[in-house]
Amino acid sequence: MSLAQLWQLQQLELDREKEQKQLDRQLIKALTKEKEALLARQEELKREKAEWEKTVKQSKRLRQEIAAIEAKKQALEQELYGGRVVNPKELGHLEDQWQNVEAKLNTLLEDYLNLEEKVATMENCLQVKHDQLVKDMDSYNQKARQVKEKWQEGKVRLQTLISHMEELEAQIDPSLLQQYRRLQEQLGTVALAKVQGGNCGGCGIQLPSMFRQQLKQGKLIKCENCGRLLVNS
Ligand SMILES: [Zn+2]
Repeated sequence: MSLAQLWQLQQLELDREKEQKQLDRQLIKALTKEKEALLARQEELKREKAEWEKTVKQSKRLRQEIAAIEAKKQALEQELYGGRVVNPKELGHLEDQWQNVEAKLNTLLEDYLNLEEKVATMENCLQVKHDQLVKDMDSYNQKARQVKEKWQEGKVRLQTLISHMEELEAQIDPSLLQQYRRLQEQLGTVALAKVQGGNCGGCGIQLPSMFRQQLKQGKLIKCENCGRLLVNS
C-alpha cells in the first residue's frame, strides 16, 4: 500500500518539476528580454527626437540669418539704385558688396533647403518608428498579461501539487519515505521503477522471476542494475 502511494508521490514530484521548469524558464525570461529590447528602442527614439529638435533649431537660426542678410541686400540695393550715390568708385564698391552678399545668400539658402529636407526626412522616420513602437508595445502588453495569467495558473497548480504531496507523505511509512529520499539523493527524482512485463521500468533490464514473488509478498527490492526501488504494476 505504501509503495503504491510512494509511486503516486513520485508522479506528483515529476509533475511539480515540470511546472517549476515552466514557471522559471520560457515565459518570464522571454518576456524580460522582449521588454528590454522595447525599452532600448524607446531610448533610441528619444535620442533621435533630440537630434531632430536640434536640427529644427539649426534650421530656424539659419532662417533668421537669411532674413538678416536679405535685409542687408535690400539696403545695398537702395543705396545702389536710390540715386544718392553717384561716385563711380563708390558705386563699384557697393556693387562688390552686393555681389558678396548675394553669393552668401545663395549658399545659405541652399544650406537651408538641405536642412529642411533633412528635417522632413527625420520627421517621417521618427513617425514610422514611433508608430511601430506603439504597436509593438501594445502587443507586448497583451502578451505580458497572458503570460502573467498563465504564470499565476501555474503557481496555483504547483501549490495544489505541493499540498497533495504533503497529504501523501503523511500517509507513507516514515522509514520507507526516508529510504526513498536517500535513494533520490543518488538517483534523482526517479528513484522508483515499475515492473513492466518482468523488466525494470527504469533501466529496462530483465528481472529475476523470484523478484516478482518477493514483491508480491511486500518486500522491498531494488533493481540490481539501476538501483531503483521496484514497484509492482
Ligand atoms: Zn533498473
